[in-house]
Amino acid sequence: MKESIKPERLAIVVPCYNEEEMLALSSEALRGVLKDLAGKGKIAQDSFILFVDDGSRDATWELIEKEHRKFPQVKGLKLAGNVGHQFALTAGLLTARDMSGVTVSIDADLQDDILVIEEMIDKFQEGCDVVYGVRSDRKTDSFFKRTTAQAFYKLMAVMGVKTVYNHADFRLMSKRALEEFSKYQENNLFLRGMIPLLGYKTDQVYYERKERVAGESKYPLGKMLSLAFNGISSFSVKPISLIIGLGVCIVAGSVLAALYALISYFTGHVVAGWTSLILSIWFIGGVQLLSIGLIGQYIGKIYIEVKHRPRYHIEKILDENEMIKVS
Ligand code: UDP
Ligand code: MG
Repeated sequence: MKESIKPERLAIVVPCYNEEEMLALSSEALRGVLKDLAGKGKIAQDSFILFVDDGSRDATWELIEKEHRKFPQVKGLKLAGNVGHQFALTAGLLTARDMSGVTVSIDADLQDDILVIEEMIDKFQEGCDVVYGVRSDRKTDSFFKRTTAQAFYKLMAVMGVKTVYNHADFRLMSKRALEEFSKYQENNLFLRGMIPLLGYKTDQVYYERKERVAGESKYPLGKMLSLAFNGISSFSVKPISLIIGLGVCIVAGSVLAALYALISYFTGHVVAGWTSLILSIWFIGGVQLLSIGLIGQYIGKIYIEVKHRPRYHIEKILDENEMIKVS
């Protein structure tokens, strides 16, 4: 790092959904990081934290306002309703882009190690536009969370979606990377699959994931499965090819079965029972429904994309200007 280069203004973007138990803790910890890094001259003095309230139903927004009044380095963005983690994060990043030179996104539960933010900044100063935070182990996750997450990354790889293994949405992005990311206007958001497409110089920093200090996971199984399916179907049409492959196999199988029946007829063996017949009809019926459903999912996605609706609505921003109004 050259000393003469003016340090960039860092924005730490934190999506929050019903995080009243975590907010004050997160704010304090992240303010500590800002103070430390600014003290070392690695980031600008006016660096800040941007909490994004994703339509929380608890006191999250009131707490963000309170933090903002107490600490000028805390800013807030209130979305008009709950749009989900990926959209809330995008709203935060695109808002922060205009106010900062570099951003780091992190979850409000601080399961990711905030101490590696310094390493991320170092790599940014060495010329990386994107720095991924990667978990070196998952010891603290429950067995269930660990195995499902592992299966998720494997499945993504098999389906040909490029993601960074064991990286969630804890990452640094330069202003330039965000500028390019903002050109991706799609409604089916899967940031982990999209950011690698930018193609800029990237690096990784490793950390051990901690347990959630307070509050509970907002990613139950249902949401996780839909994230996985969304991730795959937004980036890959392989499932449709697999269905075609399955169709070809079943047709080939039925031709063989027909040949067998014909041979049995001529050799005098009677084809036994109707169970097998009924079962195969059900099986093929099931495969057909599944295939139609899968294709329907893709068509549904096309429908959502062509409408080109706005991805989120901002209700309020607490920034410097707001500060003047408040005080
Ligand atoms: N989150 C959000 N909107 C939602 C669900 C979650 O902004 O609809 C935020 C949440 O507050 C947290 C982050 O996304 O900061 C990740 O959620 P969580 O920690 O519950 O997920 P996990 O770490 O268990 O996968
Ligand atoms: Mg979490």
